[in-house]
Amino acid sequence: MIKSVAKGERFQIQVSGSENIEGDSLVVATGGLSYKKLGSSDLGYKIARQFGLKVIECRPGLVPLQFGNEDKIKFEDLSGISFIAKISYGNRSFRDGVLITHRGISGPAILQASSYWKKGMMLKIDIANAEGVPARLAKILGRTNVWSILPKATEGYDHAEVTVGGVDTSELSPETFESKKIAGLYFVGEVLDVTGQLGGFNIHWAFASGSVAGKST
Ligand SMILES: Cc1cc2nc3c(=O)[nH]c(=O)nc-3n(C[C@H](O)[C@H](O)[C@H](O)COP(=O)(O)OP(=O)(O)OC[C@H]3O[C@@H](n4cnc5c(N)ncnc54)[C@H](O)[C@@H]3O)c2cc1C
Repeated sequence: MIKSVAKGERFQIQVSGSENIEGDSLVVATGGLSYKKLGSSDLGYKIARQFGLKVIECRPGLVPLQFGNEDKIKFEDLSGISFIAKISYGNRSFRDGVLITHRGISGPAILQASSYWKKGMMLKIDIANAEGVPARLAKILGRTNVWSILPKATEGYDHAEVTVGGVDTSELSPETFESKKIAGLYFVGEVLDVTGQLGGFNIHWAFASGSVAGKST
């Protein structure tokens, strides 16, 4: 486990249970805050702040959303139901699968929306043009064409595929991902304020940015 980083002539990395490591360059690829059980930590953000780089506030993304208390009581018995529909919020929309869970809503359309969702934002599900809406859900929704949901919260980092926010990209060279302030210090992958939609874009970004920085060191 990397505990801290210091910089004199060179970067010095303090690792628990091991001798310190030194190097002329340091590429920070510590990822986001999601799935702590897989080893995530806030070390990358700490290193950025330590060296005076701006970090955009983080929040969970590509994550299921929780119903408000009333909706939970109304819809929790429908857990497991899925259908395809267009989800709108503000001026954005996604059409994809929606899944009702025992605590809220999930499925690809909701995960996409969650990366833009902030507390207080209403989601609208177009029921009139949805496919496969089960009769049990249609009955609860009555004659409405649009199902409006005000989620209470996300399911948090433990269920989030990505972390929205991170090290501000304006702090880095767009060609190499090296810090404009600290020579030899690079940030790549999810620790940066770059978030992809579903479809492999996040993993692609991690490999592509890591490769570019690696070739530049
Ligand atoms: C469940 C799940 C499903 C996903 N599905 C997709 C998908 O389908 N498509 C897609 O594009 N993306 C997906 N992602 C996101 C994708 O995995 C990440 O965006 C990508 O792995 C980020 O790569 P990275 O190298 O920046 O960070 P990571 O892959 O998170 O690697 C960071 C590494 O740093 C290590 N680390 C952190 N802190 C320390 C420390 N203090 N000391 C030592 N080591 C440390 C971590 O243990 C980890 O090994 C998914 C993520 C999750 C959690």
